[in-house]
Amino acid sequence: MSRFFSEELSALTPYTPGEQPDKSKQLIKLNTNENPYGPGPMVKKALEETDSDLLRLYPDPEALELREAIADFYGLGPEQVAVTNGSDETLAFAFMAFSANRRKVFFPEISYGFYPVFAQVFKTDFEEVPLRGGLTIDPEDYLKCDGPVLIANPNAPTGLALEPSEIERILNADPYRLVIIDEAYVDFGAESCVPLIEKYDNLLVIQTFSKSRGLAGSRVGFALGCEDLINDINTIKFSFNPYSLDQVAISVAAASMRDKEHFEQTRSMIMATREKTFKTLKEMNFHVIPSKANFLFARHDLISGADYFAALRENDIIVRHFDKERIEDYVRISIGTDEQMKQFLKVTGEIIRELE
Ligand code: PMP
Repeated sequence: MSRFFSEELSALTPYTPGEQPDKSKQLIKLNTNENPYGPGPMVKKALEETDSDLLRLYPDPEALELREAIADFYGLGPEQVAVTNGSDETLAFAFMAFSANRRKVFFPEISYGFYPVFAQVFKTDFEEVPLRGGLTIDPEDYLKCDGPVLIANPNAPTGLALEPSEIERILNADPYRLVIIDEAYVDFGAESCVPLIEKYDNLLVIQTFSKSRGLAGSRVGFALGCEDLINDINTIKFSFNPYSLDQVAISVAAASMRDKEHFEQTRSMIMATREKTFKTLKEMNFHVIPSKANFLFARHDLISGADYFAALRENDIIVRHFDKERIEDYVRISIGTDEQMKQFLKVTGEIIRELE
């Protein structure tokens, strides 16, 4: 740390992203919930048609083409959509916009590891609400929170999802309290809260192109909500970085939104592979949480999470291990292709057999 670094931020522990190994190494990468199929033909076409001269100009700060494509997909108006550089940036803008009155933000004790980091960097007081047994979220625990509530649905890294009716209970409990639902993984089997936007002006839904739309490398995320909430997000965006999305990202994300066939096909494939992997892990006596996301959270009585992670790593397979109380015995396994998961299960079988 230099002697110039802000004293107030000196205790900040930044978020640790999952490892992005050297691409020339033939590793099976199941650690950051990327989509193994990537973007579809309409994105490839949009990339091919991109004129490099476009890069000379600033992009459209309103990103209207993309906001319209998202609005069309969800049956909303573009004024109900804000777009950002990854949904991490949407979350950052939401923290800046909605925790300003020093109101405490409430989120689950075990969830996306970036939430407490944002709270620290934006100097927001926060409370981590304990999970119940089986690492579940109980909506009851959020009814009386006296500040914005932020819930990942499905939650990460468990993959467990709440029903929209359960989220509606939280929304109804206090119309003066904002509820932010992070739906990064919603397209893999959970039900979205987007239809509730018309009914609740205290609901902000955040989604990403990184998972179900295979564009993690392009960095595009978005917020959906009533016009006033979206204006608030845009007030922050235009006070911070109006051009946070580059022109190529705007074009490819819009094309990806329109490619419904590729979206449906690949998310179905991922869900089918997840269910097969779930079943085989159970047969090997793993404790696996039934997931509605593109990952599984699993542990085995015969091996610690850290040792299982290391044993897989020795076999060129990377998963994610969190050294955190209550979940340190687990690893999070992103769902890859059938072929990748076959190799993962083969290696896992060998690791477990050696211990039996
Ligand atoms: N929310 C959750 C729950 C996530 O797991 C992630 C990805 N790690 C994000 C948001 C951010 O994703 P991105 O910035 O790629 O849109």
